[in-house]
Amino acid sequence: MPKATDTILELDLNALDNNYKYIISKISPATKLLAVVKAFAYGSDSVAIAKELETLNVDYFAVAYTTEGVALRDAQIKTPILVLHPVPANFEETVNRCLEPSIYSKKILKEFIAVAESKNQIDYPIHLKFDTGLNRLGFEINEIPFIAEMLSKTNSVKVKSAFSHLAASEDLSEKDFSVGQINSFRKISEQLTSQIGYKPLLHCSNTSGILNYPEAHFDMVRSGIGLYGFGNDKEHNKHLKPIGTLKTIISQIHNVAEGESVGYNRGFFASKPTRSATLPIGHADGIPRSYGKGKGWVTINDKKAPILGNVCMDMIMVDVTHIECEEGDEAIVFGPSAKADELSAAINSISYELITAISQRVKRVVCRK
Ligand SMILES: *Cc1c(COP(=O)(O)O)cnc(C)c1O
Repeated sequence: MPKATDTILELDLNALDNNYKYIISKISPATKLLAVVKAFAYGSDSVAIAKELETLNVDYFAVAYTTEGVALRDAQIKTPILVLHPVPANFEETVNRCLEPSIYSKKILKEFIAVAESKNQIDYPIHLKFDTGLNRLGFEINEIPFIAEMLSKTNSVKVKSAFSHLAASEDLSEKDFSVGQINSFRKISEQLTSQIGYKPLLHCSNTSGILNYPEAHFDMVRSGIGLYGFGNDKEHNKHLKPIGTLKTIISQIHNVAEGESVGYNRGFFASKPTRSATLPIGHADGIPRSYGKGKGWVTINDKKAPILGNVCMDMIMVDVTHIECEEGDEAIVFGPSAKADELSAAINSISYELITAISQRVKRVVCRK
């Protein structure tokens, strides 16, 4: 890639292919792979990512909200799309755009069936979400008789899959809890299958579940963060490659004399002569204020340049006293060599939060490295 001339988020499709193949290598050929492309494919570009994954024959997509699924359908994505968190106001559109809802409560089941019936649907695919310990969304095991009863009275919908979500699959100190969730899910699946009279696809593993609990792959697995290059552990990270590189440039360099301050609220005071570089990226682009005052950094000419003072809306100033650089030089916020998980750890956050927060103002540039 040529050097950046503006703030951009570069997306490397070859890194995506690499990560897809690594995840596939961890599951049996009979197990389907669902790619989670919610939140603009974790802050990247859901259409570009979904198109590439479709060429790799991914089995399913998932988004969080109906509007995200609509964007994929508008871009001619044909693969089935599970909507993880639909709300009744979007049910009509969910059906109109061939999106498959996660059904997580009695109320949602009733209301979706009503919409499917009003639109004369037969066997419209739905996905039943069960809570096994996350306490976020999902039916309880004792609601299965209600589900079976509702389903016996209609042919408008058909259970394509039943699933659950692990609360701590990346945390091996919570192994007993995760195994407990997996066992509950197995029990739920058996009861559901016997009460509705057919076996839906079963799935409960996110990326860390795929990597840490091979016994819990069932019929399908759901990968988000792994596809974008993070495995939540050092060993797997060796094989995965972050797909995104957030780059910007040095707009201006200031020589700050001892005793002068830099930025809003005089967040930095120079205790010695300091060279400060101003970059066109700020909290409105997804760099939280909590990275200010030296907590966060960018990489310029392979050296770390810590953030000076407060993060502004559209700019940060970084310390380049010790770095040979000039106006127009490239600065890397994160990428394959300046990992988003390390930067996010500096403010007690996680890669997920940093990469999904890069705002739509930052131009996405798709490439193959
Ligand atoms: C976001 C999400 C995933 C993806 O999790 P990763 O840790 O990114 O692989 C899987 N399943 C559900 C229900 C989700 O909400």
